[in-house]
Amino acid sequence: MYAKPDSNTMTTRIARAEDAMDAALKSLSYRLTETEDSRMAEKIPDAAHAASLNGLRNDNAPVPIPAVEIAPLPSSAKRVPDAVATGRPSREEAEAAVRTLLRWAGDDPNREGLRDTPARVAKAYGQLFGGYEQDADALLERVFEEVEGYSDIVLVRDIPFYSHCEHHMVPFMGLAHIAYYPVKGVVGLSKLARVVDTFARRLQTQETMTAQIADVIESILKPRGIAVMVEAEHLCMAMRGVQKAGVSTITTQFRGAFKSDPNEQVRFLTLVRNKP
Ligand SMILES: [Zn+2]
Repeated sequence: MYAKPDSNTMTTRIARAEDAMDAALKSLSYRLTETEDSRMAEKIPDAAHAASLNGLRNDNAPVPIPAVEIAPLPSSAKRVPDAVATGRPSREEAEAAVRTLLRWAGDDPNREGLRDTPARVAKAYGQLFGGYEQDADALLERVFEEVEGYSDIVLVRDIPFYSHCEHHMVPFMGLAHIAYYPVKGVVGLSKLARVVDTFARRLQTQETMTAQIADVIESILKPRGIAVMVEAEHLCMAMRGVQKAGVSTITTQFRGAFKSDPNEQVRFLTLVRNKP
């Protein structure tokens, strides 16, 4: 189910996750035996607040899980976030969390229209955040060497994507444009779209996503240059906060020839903008 089950880093991460889990369980049982309800409520004001909200009973009050320090992964591994390392809740826990959020929003999770919503949301998350289970590196590992003689620009533009901002879990969506100068063969064009998809289907910032796309192409294809441009509309800006619709945010990453030569950047931007 998870990427790279055979790698050594996986074994290390599982070991790390088990250690973290042990520590969490020890600490949790300590809290449960040593703390009274009132002290517990004092320690987790959010849960107490949620319980008192509109006088609703809070059956799904969050269990206070102590923060566990997990050593940061090496930066090279960060492109493949590992749900194992952070511990993944069960489907039932996820659905209970959705019921809590429905009540937090002010609705009744037991009314007919919402009865199956927690199950549907949990299932939809599998797709919307499916990028956590995909390995962008692996997507680029097969190159077409028969076009080895080709070394001019390869540009794939207008790749649509849908992502979620990591600050509010609200969608942002738009287009990605990717160009590179191949050195030893090119990848299938659809692979670049799938790379975008892999990173988009995670909680993101637009800046991080742009850099991740450039990073993975750089490390696997080792091209002479890479340019990535992402333009997106953030619903968290349109729907809340400043409430400005139709604002687009543009982020770019230039590497290699695109970084050192401004003419290359102009060429990239011209190709992106000159639509037939
Ligand atoms: Zn946001």
